[in-house]
Order: sequence, then C-alpha cells, then structure tokens
Amino acid sequence: MSALRVLKSLNSIQTLALTWKREGLLVGFVPTMGSLHPGHISLVEQARTAVGPTGKVVLSIYVNPTQFGANEDLAHYPRGFREDLKLCRSAGVDVVFAPCDRDMFLVGGKADYSTWVEEQQISMGMEGAARPTHFRGVTTVVAKLFNLVLPDVAVFGAKDFQQAAVIGRMVDNLHFPIRIILSPTVRESDGLALSTRNRYLDPAHRAQAVVLSRLISKAREVVGKSRGGILANELRTVLNRVLEGFPLARLDYIEFFCPSTLQPLGRVKRGSQMAVAAFLGSTRLIDNGPL
Ligand code: AMP
Repeated sequence: MSALRVLKSLNSIQTLALTWKREGLLVGFVPTMGSLHPGHISLVEQARTAVGPTGKVVLSIYVNPTQFGANEDLAHYPRGFREDLKLCRSAGVDVVFAPCDRDMFLVGGKADYSTWVEEQQISMGMEGAARPTHFRGVTTVVAKLFNLVLPDVAVFGAKDFQQAAVIGRMVDNLHFPIRIILSPTVRESDGLALSTRNRYLDPAHRAQAVVLSRLISKAREVVGKSRGGILANELRTVLNRVLEGFPLARLDYIEFFCPSTLQPLGRVKRGSQMAVAAFLGSTRLIDNGPL
C-alpha cells in the first residue's frame, strides 16, 4: 500500500489526476465533508473494489458552505482532520484532497465566482423543498470536484438517496465520463443510520433517533403484508401512530416515491422507496429505504 498523500491546492490534485490518466490508472473518488465514520469508510472500500489494487482512491474533505442554508449548522459542523487522516490511512486511501473555500470560490482571490450547476427536476422535492439552495450547492461542488479529480468512478451513500440520484442525473445530463456507485447505508446496531450529525444528539435524543429507521421498517412490514400495495395516506396514518411513541421527534416529512424517477406515489407498493426527515431537538436527521 502506498503512503497517504494530502493535497490542498486545486492545481496539485488536477496535475496528479492528469498524470494518472496518462499512465492509464483507474481513479475512484469518495467526496465527503469529513468527520469520517464507518459509513464513509464503506464507500472507500467500494471505490477500492471498483479500481482494484493498482488503481487510485481519492477521498475529498470539504465542508461545502454552499450546500448549507442561512440558518443551518455550517459554523458548528464537526471537523476532525487528524482523526480523518488516520482513518483514511488505515482504509488504504491514496490521496486526501482537502481544498479551502478561498480556492474553491474566490477565483484568483477575487470575489467573482458566478457559475452554478443546478438540476431542476428530481432535486425539487424532499430535501430540495426543505432546503431550497442545498442541491445547487451540492451539484456545483461535486461538478467542480469531478473536474479536479477526474475520477472513473465516484461512490455515494444510499443514506443520501436523493443526493445520489441528483448527482446521477447531473452526470448523465452533462456527460461526465464517470460511473456512479450507490453504496448501502451503514447503521448502528439499533438501526440508526450513521451520520456525522448524530454527534449533536444528547442521550435522550439519541435514544429516540431510532424513530427514523423504525418508521421505515414499519412501512416495509405494512407494505409487505398488503395485497397490491396501500394508499399513501393510509400508510401515513399507521406511521403517525408509531411517531406517537417518540415524543422528542418532530417530523419534517415522510415521502413515498418511485426510486428511479423520485416521483411521489399515491399508492405504495413493494419496491417503492420511502424517505423520512425528522428533528431530534435542533438536530435534523434523514433516512430512507426500499419498501
Ligand atoms: P457527508 O460527509 O455526510 O457529506 O457524506 C459523504 C458521503 O458519505 C455521501 O455520499 C453520503 O451519502 C455517505 N454516507 C454518509 N453516511 C453514510 C452511511 N451511514 N452509510 C453509507 N454512506 C454514508
């Protein structure tokens, strides 16, 4: 295994990526906002499997300010660069790319950044409705990172199902020659999806955060027992009863949708997808899964 390299300048990563291209090496890419946990590391493993032992795996750490809304947690978002590097080293990452805001958004040091990438269909509902500028920030930064890292494959977590779908659409629509891999959600033993934001939870809220995965498993059970599916409204009524057992949780949304088009469904069947967002105190968590 080669030693981990840490690159911060845009020029250094792009030059290295171009060298790799000339040498015919495959590149796998895992974009993250750092504060890494085993969910992120599972994406690294997928990237390694995709590019093989001779390929290169790049993980980026960039807390993208443009994907946070004005009243969101950008200033408090957990950061732990040293710990992240340790995890990357043991996971066999070749390069950690950690750019700064100045380089990403101030061209030549001037405040003349004015180019945005925006998906205008599947990014509109769910997270896009709850966080109106979020996906524009995500797609813009991911497109920039793709142009810097020049990956052959990029790995995204199913935990952020809509994000992965929006990026898949961007890659198709803008002809990025990149294969997108969707990697399964890694969970705690009680079902809570691993997330950097779980660190904000105090013990009482942590105990009730299991509500998101419980709602999904209840919906799965109900849909599994139904013949030909169930009306979305009926399913919501069942799930509202589950919610009553978790008084510290404040529901933001539950959606049932087609996993390929992300269109909302009036009738929910096996193979439909469900997404849920809820506040536990001031911490907003999301989860999703197939039914
Ligand atoms: P983040 O650092 O939270 O922006 O996440 C970076 C990548 O890791 C995204 O593709 C996420 O979907 C993915 N990810 C985050 N949490 C998990 C998890 N529990 N299981 C699998 N992938 C995850």
